[in-house]
Amino acid sequence: MSMILIVEDENSIGEIVELNLKLANHNAIRVATAEEAIELINNGRNFDIAILDIMLPGMDGIQLCGEIRKKDSQMGIIMLSAKSQERDKIYALSTGADDYVTKPFGVQELIARVESLMRRVKRDAQPEQEGEILQSGPFTLDLKSRILYKNKQMIDLTSVEFNIMELFFRNAETAMVREKILEGVWGENYFGDVKIVDVNIRRLRIKIEEDPSNPQHIVTVWGYGYRWTV
Ligand code: CA
Repeated sequence: MSMILIVEDENSIGEIVELNLKLANHNAIRVATAEEAIELINNGRNFDIAILDIMLPGMDGIQLCGEIRKKDSQMGIIMLSAKSQERDKIYALSTGADDYVTKPFGVQELIARVESLMRRVKRDAQPEQEGEILQSGPFTLDLKSRILYKNKQMIDLTSVEFNIMELFFRNAETAMVREKILEGVWGENYFGDVKIVDVNIRRLRIKIEEDPSNPQHIVTVWGYGYRWTV
């Protein structure tokens, strides 16, 4: 059974999310502050997915996301943001969140997002092609350990970033429309918007490009999407 962490200071929202996750057969632990969440993780609690509200007393959800990512690149992270926090949302994704849901949200939509992210996280834990290694120029993608190397240097990626790289490696030198990347990585039933692709690409460029503002590998195809080239 999966374990989900909920960090939400608004009791009524936290409660309904927790209840519905449990009704959908997930384990869930709910805390009201980022500090409590960090304590749980430091005490060795493992979570498949974390749902983080952005506005929290004390440390906010975005900082918490960054703290979690320092220790754990595999955990799925969904941010909860208010409509007025559009900029925060994009910033949160750049610190390593996988998805976001805007308040007010339908709890069933949130559960659907959790389960879609869960499938990605679990798929990552059991790669289908064990031992397979993909090579592209100076880059090596080890599908078994799910590690990317550039000139034998390890590059730390989140699950989503890894899946994007795998998609690129399998479609090298091919212009890929953003919707196709969204479908290939987030799944066909994902109903978020394609901006999430751009945010992840921006983050990947910072990790893999010599000069992220002048990318040589993840090239923008204007008005279309991206192309992987080495
Ligand atoms: Ca809040």
